[in-house]
Amino acid sequence: MEWIEGNDMMERKEMDNQLHTKVSHDQVDKQHYGAVTIPIYQNSLFTFENHETFDQAMQDVLAANVYSRGNNPTVKYLESKIAELECGEQSRCFASGMAAIAGTLHALLSSGDHVICVDQAYGPTREFLNEMSERYQVEVTYVDGSLLSDFEDAVQPNTKIIYVESPTSGLFQLQDLEGIAELAKKTGIITMIDGSWATPCFQRPLTMGIDLVLHSMTKFFSGHSDCLGGVVTGSAALISKIENKGYMLLGGIMTAHTASLMIRGLRTLPLRMERHQKSGMIIAEYLEKHPMVNRVNHPALRSHPQHELAQKQLDGYSSLFSFESKLPVAVMKQWADALHYFRIAVSWGGYESLVTVNTTPERRNPDGTNPSVARLYIGMEDPYTLIDDMERAWKLVKAY
Ligand code: PLP
Repeated sequence: MEWIEGNDMMERKEMDNQLHTKVSHDQVDKQHYGAVTIPIYQNSLFTFENHETFDQAMQDVLAANVYSRGNNPTVKYLESKIAELECGEQSRCFASGMAAIAGTLHALLSSGDHVICVDQAYGPTREFLNEMSERYQVEVTYVDGSLLSDFEDAVQPNTKIIYVESPTSGLFQLQDLEGIAELAKKTGIITMIDGSWATPCFQRPLTMGIDLVLHSMTKFFSGHSDCLGGVVTGSAALISKIENKGYMLLGGIMTAHTASLMIRGLRTLPLRMERHQKSGMIIAEYLEKHPMVNRVNHPALRSHPQHELAQKQLDGYSSLFSFESKLPVAVMKQWADALHYFRIAVSWGGYESLVTVNTTPERRNPDGTNPSVARLYIGMEDPYTLIDDMERAWKLVKAY
């Protein structure tokens, strides 16, 4: 592929094959009569033969199967699969991406701690941090994050967590993960990343020294826009801190039924990501040459200001990106309305292509106005059909 210049394609291919194998292969499950996939443990509690074994289990409820708010074998299986993909020791799955993010932050932060967070992080994540700041005296500093010095300059003696999201999901800005991890390790700061955009297929932050990687599993892991979930992965020591306070006590856990849907999604995750990458790039390249477009925010493009960093820390590119236009928002919304194959909606990661239009206060046109930004999510449809759709909508808007 022309876009992936300078990378060792053989190495990439080997990694891809490993991922395909990891998500597809399991040992024969003798405990479940050889069932090819783990059954759904649709039970809230586990019973014991006698009080002695019950008392033993109650000494450490998170080490035994006692209650499904702590452990459930279907969820546990999914967690072990994700930990393997992330090259991490342990994972914990939650009811949603926000439950994973909020539960993790809540478990690790105390009043008086300081957090450095990228200013383009997912809105509700920032809202949660702002709540922590107002109600529990947690200090928060927001940084642009495209330069390592943004983090260096913000570090304080009480900095507990550096929270990044790379790439971000509006303007697709990256942060230097290895640099941040190195900086944080010097003073024992915990690093967390929202890696929902890339999935472990295209980015494994733990191998770059980041401590915790989180995902909204609602997106690519599920892949079918039919369930919500979240996950955090890291060392056993950090996960054990999170699982008591952030998981079991807050109770935002993943159910066995949702886990089974996620396991089904996981089987095809690498395959789907390959397709998303290819289609997304075809459409990003088309848009880059389009007269209505000023700039395409897609890290795979050479025109992306952090393309070199993207090549270094990403193994591939997903299909959520945005483009900026000089046309007024109202006109861009007409363009979106005229699209036949793109649905107008929040979220991403499913089979269906999506579009939303907004303005961005972060950028300025030469006349001082803010450009309009269309965020596109490219689903499973034929990319050339989607291009024809965009051309047709453009002709309608132009004529108007
Ligand atoms: N992180 C990012 C980048 C997101 O876009 C979202 C949701 O849109 C979340 C986290 C939260 O995930 P969920 O909706 O599963 O709670």
